[in-house]
Amino acid sequence: MTFKELGLSEAILKAVSKKGYTNPSPIQEKAIPLVLQGKDVLASAQTGTGKTAGFTLPMLHNLAAHNKWKRRPIRALVLTPTRELAAQVYENVREYSEYLDIRSTVIFGGVNAKPQMRTLREGVDILVATPGRLLDLENQNALSLGKVEILVLDEADRMLDMGFLRDIKKVLSLVPREKQTLLFSATFSKEIKELANNIMFRPVLVEAEPENSTAEKVIQRAIRVDKGKKNELLIKLISEGNWKQVLIFTRTKHGANRLCEKLKKAGISAAAIHGNKSQNARTKALEGFKKNSIRVLVATDIAARGLDIPLLPHVVNYELPNIPADYVHRIGRTGRAGASGEALSLVCAEERDYLRDIEKLLGEKIVTEILEGFELTESLAISKPASRQQGGGRGNSRNSGGGNKKKSSGNRNTSNATNSGRNRSRTSRSSNSNSKNSNRR
Ligand code: AMP
Repeated sequence: MTFKELGLSEAILKAVSKKGYTNPSPIQEKAIPLVLQGKDVLASAQTGTGKTAGFTLPMLHNLAAHNKWKRRPIRALVLTPTRELAAQVYENVREYSEYLDIRSTVIFGGVNAKPQMRTLREGVDILVATPGRLLDLENQNALSLGKVEILVLDEADRMLDMGFLRDIKKVLSLVPREKQTLLFSATFSKEIKELANNIMFRPVLVEAEPENSTAEKVIQRAIRVDKGKKNELLIKLISEGNWKQVLIFTRTKHGANRLCEKLKKAGISAAAIHGNKSQNARTKALEGFKKNSIRVLVATDIAARGLDIPLLPHVVNYELPNIPADYVHRIGRTGRAGASGEALSLVCAEERDYLRDIEKLLGEKIVTEILEGFELTESLAISKPASRQQGGGRGNSRNSGGGNKKKSSGNRNTSNATNSGRNRSRTSRSSNSNSKNSNRR
């Protein structure tokens, strides 16, 4: 299947070819014809699958083909949960519409609203926005949503997780009843289904192949290590492995700051990105990371949601997330668009239950290893209430591994820190679990 066969206009094909895409991804093959037909589409797809082009290309095609307006009202609204994702989607919209008479802009909080208001006054066809700033500017009459023909809810599950349901409902009350609605979500919780039922008209369900080539390229690896040794191990892995671009996840904002400082002290350039950082600091950190002037980006789940950093080779879970679905989102930062990548988790004694929950969600075991010089000494009994570690002797229970039997006999199974080729597991990134909000992120 080619983009041309999907029925997209020449101007769009030209932009797509300029981006270097040769063939549509599976989600694009499925979603593009439906969106072109004007259908409501409920798509299960994560970042990394090419979903942005999946909705943007046909949206642009239809908007350009049916333009009856002299002044430009907002005809398409794309809502995203985070500022970074909004900026990214906008960047895509801009690139894909390069050869069309379509204007677009992006608005999000944390930065001066005045320039945003100026651009809106000049008229845009497509607005990409985070909910808060959108409603804020609507309140100030800086924009009107009364002519919206297409509404896209991107990463809808994360929007609900972040408590945007009320805002979404408010937005829905401001757009026309008759419109095309496209809802993208990595997971399909009860809440998402309910939302879809309420706001969509006979939606067609589209799923990205769970076993698509992109997902297959993520290699998962877990290393069991004492909590107090994580910094040392991480610094060793980054330095000796000569890792050039690493996205690291921590559970808390403080944890992200602390780790960032430790890495910098070890001579590894790093920046943190989380909700307590100003938008300018976040943008600067992300830009530095993408340009390779910063080697490590330390992020919390919410801040990193939806980040698209092409060819990101390493994602590290410095701490495992307590919400299993977040693991899926995190590892989705690597192995994007057919590139291969490695997702590494550092698992200390008290995180073993998290690992087990993640494995349950994935429906597969993640093989764990213990590295030479980092043998376990911390006892689970010290760091966790006894009730959660039945049957787990010192660091040897649930070490998940079909392939690594030796470990169960007292964690003597070690391998070299730089020997990253062993004990790996592949997975698809599909997930069906609900995510819950976590205030600390
Ligand atoms: P997304 O899932 O929309 O965040 O896209 C993930 C990455 O895949 C982005 O860097 C896109 O530029 C890239 N991409 C999207 N569609 C294609 C395609 N058909 N072929 C190759 N790369 C693509």
